[in-house]
Amino acid sequence: MNLTVLGATGSIGASTLDVVARHPDRYQVLALTAHAAAEPLLALCRSHRPRYAVLSGVGEDRDLRRRFSETRTELLFGAGALEEVVTHDACQAVMAAIVGAAGLPATLAAAAAGRRVLLANKEALVMAGPLFMRAAHAAGAKLLPIDSEHNAVFQCLSGNPLRSVRRIVLTASGGPFRALPLDGLDGVTPEQACAHPNWVMGRKISVDSATMMNKGLEVIEARWLFDVPPERIEVVIHPQSIVHSLVEYVDGSVIAQLSNPDMRVPIAHALGFPERIASGATPLDLGAIGQLSFERPDHARFPCLQLAYAALRAGGTAPTLLNAANEVAVAAFLAGRLPFTGIARVIDETLNDLAAAPAGDLAAVLAADAQARRAASALVMARAA
Ligand code: NAD
Ligand code: MG
Repeated sequence: MNLTVLGATGSIGASTLDVVARHPDRYQVLALTAHAAAEPLLALCRSHRPRYAVLSGVGEDRDLRRRFSETRTELLFGAGALEEVVTHDACQAVMAAIVGAAGLPATLAAAAAGRRVLLANKEALVMAGPLFMRAAHAAGAKLLPIDSEHNAVFQCLSGNPLRSVRRIVLTASGGPFRALPLDGLDGVTPEQACAHPNWVMGRKISVDSATMMNKGLEVIEARWLFDVPPERIEVVIHPQSIVHSLVEYVDGSVIAQLSNPDMRVPIAHALGFPERIASGATPLDLGAIGQLSFERPDHARFPCLQLAYAALRAGGTAPTLLNAANEVAVAAFLAGRLPFTGIARVIDETLNDLAAAPAGDLAAVLAADAQARRAASALVMARAA
């Protein structure tokens, strides 16, 4: 299978290439992309020998092009090249692992071209869920979730009809601040927020996990991926990150998927589907783990979760506004320009200030995204002043 990896230099990109390298007989890398990290991308080209590499955030550079040609890789520049490498005739599957709204156009193009889409870029579905799902259905694209919770739900559903499902339960670790005294939240640093207890991930999703906006985005993602209304999607805190999610059926049976917290497990599932292939993950040793515990989320500690449910219920471009405001607020927090507790406040105020509109086409979604970025940036500036 010929694979394009969008966001190859990131955390999911690295785990994907690790699994791919274990199965050289099954997978060939067609293209690898990064935003601006030329040296890490060149190193990946040396070991994986793709036909194409893309630097989406860099303009034409002859020197770089020459250096990549030593690996027999053709280097392409600019965001437009992302769409070229997912719609290329030889491309059969796309790992969509760009972080944030920047991933939407290329991920949508892959779905609209009928590719097998391994979906890590949850923000694409949060911003444009109905649009994205319509495009995928129309083109016959197979969507395979990479987010560990959604991959777990997909496995637990195993093709059963939706009418037999009572609820979907997404698990959440609660992040690094689950047990911190509430009045300590204001002073936490980006380094503390990015030190996730169970997963090593990119910085943006690490902060999202600490605010639990990650789970909010995942509720929205689940709503569109599985066509289940928000009132049938629940969240439970599970600090060990061993049970990745559960599906309850109308007969009372609850099916869960378990593994050690290692993204190579869902990645191998999606790459191999419907077969099973080795992932390299350490086998689960329940005797050593000892206890699995669960608790209800504390909404005073994690206001972002309720903000996401509210945006999902409001509909139209409300989730797009939520996602954009979150990206701006998280970037400001990581840059030291906004306290941790300011993230939820900026998102809440942005959603209060702007009216959601119908999300009929990509232009409407991108306009809402831009509008929320402007509003959220102004709020961050006003707070800093
Ligand atoms: P990361 O920050 O480690 O990597 C992001 C990748 O996207 C890099 O290759 C970077 O070059 C590229 N990129 C960044 N900005 C870009 C832009 N403007 N245009 C084009 N490319 C750009 O992120 P990650 O942790 O690997 O997460 C990737 C996606 O997967 C996110 O949507 C995240 O929510 C999702 N996800 C990640 C994990 C995880 O364990 N890391 C788990 C579940 C879901
Ligand atoms: Mg997840």
